[in-house]
Amino acid sequence: METRYISKEFVESARKMISDANNIAIVAHKNPDGDAIGSGLALYIYLTSIGKNATFILPDLMPNNLKWLPNVDKIVTYKTTQAEADAIIAAAELVIMADFNNSNRLGDSQKSFDANPAPRILIDHHPFPEVRFDIAYSRPEASSTAEMMYELISELSGANVPNPDIATCLFTGILTDTGCFNYSSSNPITFTITAHLLEAGINKDQIIDNVMNHFSETRLRLLGFGLFKKMKVLPEFQTAYIWLTKKELENFNNQQGDTEGLVNYPLTIDGINFSALFTEKDGLTKCSFRSRGSFPANKVAAERFSGGGHLNAAGGEFHKTIGKTIYYFEKVLPEYAQYLEK
Ligand code: 5GP
Ligand code: MN
Repeated sequence: METRYISKEFVESARKMISDANNIAIVAHKNPDGDAIGSGLALYIYLTSIGKNATFILPDLMPNNLKWLPNVDKIVTYKTTQAEADAIIAAAELVIMADFNNSNRLGDSQKSFDANPAPRILIDHHPFPEVRFDIAYSRPEASSTAEMMYELISELSGANVPNPDIATCLFTGILTDTGCFNYSSSNPITFTITAHLLEAGINKDQIIDNVMNHFSETRLRLLGFGLFKKMKVLPEFQTAYIWLTKKELENFNNQQGDTEGLVNYPLTIDGINFSALFTEKDGLTKCSFRSRGSFPANKVAAERFSGGGHLNAAGGEFHKTIGKTIYYFEKVLPEYAQYLEK
């Protein structure tokens, strides 16, 4: 293909490791998004098509708006079928990890994966991978793991245009991780790859409609509530944040994935370059961060909220109540003022 970042060495090592293994476990991160699910499923479809006994494991539940993806019924969810998942993980002769860089992103399944010494391949676009692996294709400049998974699958299969199911999964991953090609992360190869995926004959308009326009009424009302009642703007720090308590989330019948995207809205305010969303869970507060330009959202996440991520999209968690979390956030924010736009 024209523009390629994946190395021949990585492809040949991956080919050999795949050829040496029959039972292969693919795994993506908890709170899975379109990129995690799309790239994992695409690889699952490819590996089963060449006769491998592959399983795609997700640590926890997936969002409703992605449940139409091909082969979604084959996904093994650790949270709901732990015994079955543990047996699959223990029997895996090869583990392929997609779209995460730290094993704490495996949630409750982390222990079982760590107990299996099988070889591991990492395919991921988060900077500074810390997880154990034997070989890695790590490219933080990639828009999505799906983009990188496309390269791997097309190299392994020798085809620039994958089958429509694989193409549908990869297109969904690229679409969701680029915010429908909205973020600065898309680049020429994103569009070259997308063109090949469209050549596979996928139904682009249907996929976009499935991903974007089939949420529940309560999700949209939660979005309105969060923006109207629960957003605090701190103009002096070019920052705005939204915080939602467990009770509020329950009042809006919050489902997995419902708050996805909410954190992006404060960034659309003129003069705001850093945005945060805090959602209260049992015993901890989940934090999502987005930024514009050079403000390092991942630095704040890693240094203050046991997390990490990309420069402009990061997350973490704080093992305190939501009230204490936002108090702490406001307290540490001035220490990052040097990164704000002058
Ligand atoms: P989101 O805000 O959509 O949950 O996450 C955005 C990005 O932040 C993810 O792609 C991931 O890179 C990173 N991220 C989110 N939550 C965590 C976390 O708990 N730990 C780490 N290390 N990264 C996270
Ligand atoms: Mn991703």
